[in-house]
Amino acid sequence: MDVEDYFKSYEDLEVHKLMLTDGPRNAAYHEAIFNNKADIEGKIVLDVGAGMGILSIFCAQAGAKKVYAVEASGTYRVAIDVVKENQMENVIQVVHKRMEDVTVEDIPEKVDVIVSEWMGFYLLHEGMLDTVILARDRFLKPQGLIFPEAAAIYVTPCSVPSVYQYWENVQGVRMESFSRLLREQAYKKPITETIAASCLLAEPEVLTWIDLREVTHDNLDEINFRHVAVSNKIGAYEGICLWFTCTFPCPKGSNNFEPVTLSTEPDEPITHWKQTLIVLPNSMKVEVGHPICYDLVMKRSTESSRRYALELTMLDPEEVEHPEFCSCFMTKC
Ligand code: SAH
Repeated sequence: MDVEDYFKSYEDLEVHKLMLTDGPRNAAYHEAIFNNKADIEGKIVLDVGAGMGILSIFCAQAGAKKVYAVEASGTYRVAIDVVKENQMENVIQVVHKRMEDVTVEDIPEKVDVIVSEWMGFYLLHEGMLDTVILARDRFLKPQGLIFPEAAAIYVTPCSVPSVYQYWENVQGVRMESFSRLLREQAYKKPITETIAASCLLAEPEVLTWIDLREVTHDNLDEINFRHVAVSNKIGAYEGICLWFTCTFPCPKGSNNFEPVTLSTEPDEPITHWKQTLIVLPNSMKVEVGHPICYDLVMKRSTESSRRYALELTMLDPEEVEHPEFCSCFMTKC
């Protein structure tokens, strides 16, 4: 996707509708911003990718002195109206630019707080975190706050009933011919859907943990994870499930404060990110205590820095029967 297409995709109102109706998402940002009211009051805020301006307005409501709402797509026009509608035009300045092109003429001061909702499917899809890193390095004061300030990707083997089991009996009709095609398709490209926590076969592991105060562009080029999961139930190993969490700053001086967390894990309320599933070409029975070994590599695509290839390698393949389209080394994007 080139830059123009990327920003055009954000001119689709449906995309914003999806985000703005995501209750857990909105509530996490709102709670985190208001918990930190003492550090936002009278301060300068930068909203990276303001969309319709909701996060800028939260910060203005929490008492920010000035909010720069940077938005590259045409939706900036709606953001201007939303700001007016909420009587925040004295506080929020909408800047219609790519963050990468924003200069000191646009934002002539360092900011105390950066707020951004940059997360994509399996966290890194879309690569918008690079824009937040750039904004941090150019505009954030040394001790400034970032909302969210950390993120983690979790991973665990799972069953995928929507691809495997459901088709055995669709209102009394067998659909194996269809489900075989569906599996081949799912095998080529990860799918985004919700999965029940009961489908997870092992304890989740952290694939990577990102500290937004320190992470660099290069840290995000390639993430490698080799793991031996131990199945904690009898089940069908049919895929790898990925999800993420984001944590927000705790108010300064609050020792026992639990940070606000936005979680997209299967047993939390559903968000628009759902979960990401890498589907295996065949279903394998596992018992309690069965080791499930795999390598997962997330690699930034050489063609577009907004895309990642997810490569899953199943280890100890001699233990399983190979289906006809198994290559043991699977490249996905
Ligand atoms: N903050 C809004 C929108 C989040 S979606 C909300 O929480 O509802 C991400 C937004 O960032 C999109 O509107 C997109 O157009 C914008 N965006 C992405 N990359 C950007 C960049 N490099 N510069 C400016 N805006 C960007």
